[in-house]
Amino acid sequence: MCGIVGYIGDREVLPVLINGLKRLEYRGYDSAGVAILGKKPHIYKCKGKVSDLENHLKGKADSGNIGIGHTRWATHGEPNDINAHPHSSYHGKFIIIHNGIIENYTRLRDRLTERGVKFKSETDTEVLANLIEYIYENGNVDAELAVRLALSKVVGAYGLVVMCTDEQDKLIAARRGSPLVVGVGNEEYFLASDATPIVEYTKSVIYLNDGDVAIIRKEQLILKTLQNEDSAPTVQQLSFDIGEIDKGGYDHFMLKEIFEQPHSIEDTFRGRIRSEEAELHLGGLYDVMPKLIDAKRIIIIGCGTSWHAGLVGEYLFEDLARISVEVEYASEFRYRNPIIHKDDIVIAISQSGETADTLAAIKQAKEQGALVLGICNVVGSSIPRETHAGVYTHAGPEIGVASTKAFTCQVTVLTMMAILIGRQKGLISDEKYRSLIKEFTEVPGKIDKILTHSEHIKKLASLYQNATNALYLGRGYLFPVALEGALKLKEISYIHAEGYPAAEMKHGPIALIDDKMPVVIVATKDSSYEKIVSNIQEVKARNGIVIAVVTEGDTVIRGMADHVVEIPEVGNIFTALLSVVPLQLFSYYIAVMRDCNVDQPRNLAKSVTVE
Ligand code: GLU
Repeated sequence: MCGIVGYIGDREVLPVLINGLKRLEYRGYDSAGVAILGKKPHIYKCKGKVSDLENHLKGKADSGNIGIGHTRWATHGEPNDINAHPHSSYHGKFIIIHNGIIENYTRLRDRLTERGVKFKSETDTEVLANLIEYIYENGNVDAELAVRLALSKVVGAYGLVVMCTDEQDKLIAARRGSPLVVGVGNEEYFLASDATPIVEYTKSVIYLNDGDVAIIRKEQLILKTLQNEDSAPTVQQLSFDIGEIDKGGYDHFMLKEIFEQPHSIEDTFRGRIRSEEAELHLGGLYDVMPKLIDAKRIIIIGCGTSWHAGLVGEYLFEDLARISVEVEYASEFRYRNPIIHKDDIVIAISQSGETADTLAAIKQAKEQGALVLGICNVVGSSIPRETHAGVYTHAGPEIGVASTKAFTCQVTVLTMMAILIGRQKGLISDEKYRSLIKEFTEVPGKIDKILTHSEHIKKLASLYQNATNALYLGRGYLFPVALEGALKLKEISYIHAEGYPAAEMKHGPIALIDDKMPVVIVATKDSSYEKIVSNIQEVKARNGIVIAVVTEGDTVIRGMADHVVEIPEVGNIFTALLSVVPLQLFSYYIAVMRDCNVDQPRNLAKSVTVE
């Protein structure tokens, strides 16, 4: 959370900062601000979005070639002008932007207050700015050493960029726990929380590691550790283009990303699946395959939508590879004193690869000797670097805060893994293997077909846009889909929604059903079809409104439900991939009709880098 940008070079800095903040706004939009080292250092910041900052800046902003910018997702202190970043230190010598949480900030703040330091904001970040200045002024050290000494006293997470008004030739950046990427240009450097603000200027990037400090001048970058040891920067090339982070003619990123799914699943297949030769390869798992084959238990960890993908993974691994699976919320797992055996396989799922709780859980699992794999979308992010091996989803940048294509690509990777392990364990015959791969490669085309029903789904959305509650039900592979459908609705339209295994309805939620309650039932033709037909009747018997996602040509449920949305026929293990798509569209259209900010829902932000 929180978007950070920085620039040093010959360009006019303000447009670079503002464009960068717009690209990062999905990470936070409580307030925005920039600081420019022009003739005099200036900070401009205000509550609201980057567009509010632009209005605030009209006719005011200085010119300059060095600057930093921030778009905030508040953790400490309400979103207002004063708490907005950048923050300056008490004598104004240091200006800082920060993503993360300084956990010992109360203690540090008390100590500084005792020594006469005055605070303007309620943030933890200002404590850091003041601590750096206090050390700088009282320790007779330069800016870089002041930053490193201050950071050695800090407990918590940070990705930060610091400017010093006495040393206007440099930016000082550091990271622990929160991501930071440096773009390497020709006598210029860019800094950002992810590569999206950088790619339009350069494809050469350096991903900072935890504990790195970068001292960046126009013509030179020095990388070292907090303890002043030299560190060699690794320059990598970005693999995506600027076109991939535009709305591409769609009204919202979320809609674009829903419609991109056939393509992003194909990208996830690329080089890994070949239908003609009935081949499936996952290069990232090659070295660990013997361990996967012998695994007795897989523990999948994730948060939010990634956790739902993990639940689909549970069904897949148990079905196809006969390995027992536990799916854990990363935040619960890490604090629960979990039992992890040396021969356990832990799979961490995260779109951004930066999710703080998931990262912490990975570290714990590694310490206890487990083999840890990652399924992430952002190449070069922290989780792929922390794990022993893994598979990228290759969904392309996901900007909409509500995850869509990342989910289907995560499920795609889990399906590939389960088929591969099952096959290598000898559990899947030649014939079955060939037919699974063929069917898998048909999934993108089938999703394309579902997307052609978007007008029908939009009409349904218009009927239920004023609902106050909704229930989502599914069984087997479709239970996680019900959870994901409910999450999509609540996060972007603010309608209260619950997902349940359909059979659990009788143990409580059925009491909620009346003639105002839309019940979305994912009821495609799979092994529990007969059972779910009975569940639909139970809802109808209580006057509930049934919106059913069914297999093409299903006349039985069509005769019972109030509305149906059809999806093409597909094998059991692929149903989640298809049936989630109408639910994504349903939530999207409802949110638009309710005038909600679809790409930036209230209180949320993407890439949850705080615990
Ligand atoms: N803790 C800082 C603040 O509240 C940064 C928050 C974040 O990174 O999300 O301003």
